[in-house]
Amino acid sequence: MRAIDATADPRSTPVSRARHPDRLVMKFGGTSVADLERIERVARHVMAAVKAGRKVCVTVSAMAGETDRLVGLTRDAGGEGASRKADYDAVVASGEQVTAGLLALVLQREGVPARSWHGWQVGLKTDGTHGAAAILDIDGETLGAAIDSGEVAVVAGFQGVTDEQRISTLGRGGSDTTAVALAAALGASQCDIYTDVDGVYTTDPRLVPGARRLDLISFEEMLEMASQGAKVLQTRSVGLGMLHGVPIRVLSSLEEPQENPPCTLIVDEEDIMERRVVSAVVPSRAEAKLSLMGIPNVPGMSAAIFTRLAAAKVNIDMIVQSQARTGEAANLSFTLKEDDLARTQAALADMKDEIGFTGVLADQNVSKVSIIGVGMNDHSGVAAQMFETLADRGINIQNISTSEIKISVLIPAEYTELAVRALHDAFSLGEVH
Ligand code: ADP
Ligand code: ASP
Ligand code: MG
Repeated sequence: MRAIDATADPRSTPVSRARHPDRLVMKFGGTSVADLERIERVARHVMAAVKAGRKVCVTVSAMAGETDRLVGLTRDAGGEGASRKADYDAVVASGEQVTAGLLALVLQREGVPARSWHGWQVGLKTDGTHGAAAILDIDGETLGAAIDSGEVAVVAGFQGVTDEQRISTLGRGGSDTTAVALAAALGASQCDIYTDVDGVYTTDPRLVPGARRLDLISFEEMLEMASQGAKVLQTRSVGLGMLHGVPIRVLSSLEEPQENPPCTLIVDEEDIMERRVVSAVVPSRAEAKLSLMGIPNVPGMSAAIFTRLAAAKVNIDMIVQSQARTGEAANLSFTLKEDDLARTQAALADMKDEIGFTGVLADQNVSKVSIIGVGMNDHSGVAAQMFETLADRGINIQNISTSEIKISVLIPAEYTELAVRALHDAFSLGEVH
């Protein structure tokens, strides 16, 4: 079987459209399983699907806060580098095992045949990148046979097993990716992601009360939203859905089961009639900026620096290089995830003498704010409107980056909320178009 994960180009041809219309994957996130009462409500959602004749595979996250607690313990035990080790994964994967077992017990108590599964038991094989592993394969046959026999399968999310028979985890928020990968492997007709909001909104509804739920969003826009920091779905889950043609719904687990609940459906771009210029505003506070001063102004310096950072597995985002006049040294600044800052600073310290830059400045007091929309690429003036809106509020832009369907700016962190609200208003996202 070909690799399941979206390390391949997610825009390539889908390989596994639904083969089993009665099979359904349901995923419940941390808040949805935060205590036994909520797990009981999750069980009611599962029972409603079983009653409707679906063959159900459920995947669950750890109880809210549990993964953070486990990560904290591994840090205390193993220092900063713990998150890249197999034994880090052995610890943090345990949270999901607890909730999978508890949900199976509650379902059995209610008379529904169910069993819990760990990642290795469903043959969820990953590469060896501990802490951020990619899924290579899932044994869809065994799992499919189990659910077709009428038993609900409750799979621990976020975890898999490597070729070395070590437990691996898929990166924070990784249960979303487990869910979509399971749906692809099972040929399920749908993957329902239950969370603590009833869909994907024009911006984080916790930040902007006037945010509006989108009934439909394209895979392309959702992929961009997730990768720019909208927490609601893990980026790789969206890439996988796109690659395998898995219809994904985002909906709330905090309500009791109902027919036609409010939700967002993620669909192919051509299934959306109206191409919105801007669909969403995405803030990301987890950013940091590094500036390298006094880099020798000769060819090959950026190549040397970024090759070494790539070897250290640091993901670099916005890059700005100051123009140096002949003979003068150049400055280079780039952004990265705040979590990677310490590791990156260590890698820079290692190369400082060899490359010959004079200093490094770190700034954690920055945020990235992005606007996203598929209609942007054939509309002029969107960037101008974004920059004007921020200028009117006195917000200084430090860096800019764009793609066909996204414009991102780096701004001082204290202006995040103001910028998001102003942009949400400026592009009239709270209004039904
Ligand atoms: P789970 O624990 O279920 O995986 P997450 O906390 O990972 O849930 O994701 C849900 C959260 O994502 C919501 O509570 C919401 O605050 C946040 N979020 C950020 N941006 C958006 C958005 N555009 N639409 C919906 N939710 C968003
Ligand atoms: N429990 C893991 C986390 O908190 C995975 C997930 O919830 O998707 O990151
Ligand atoms: Mg999540």
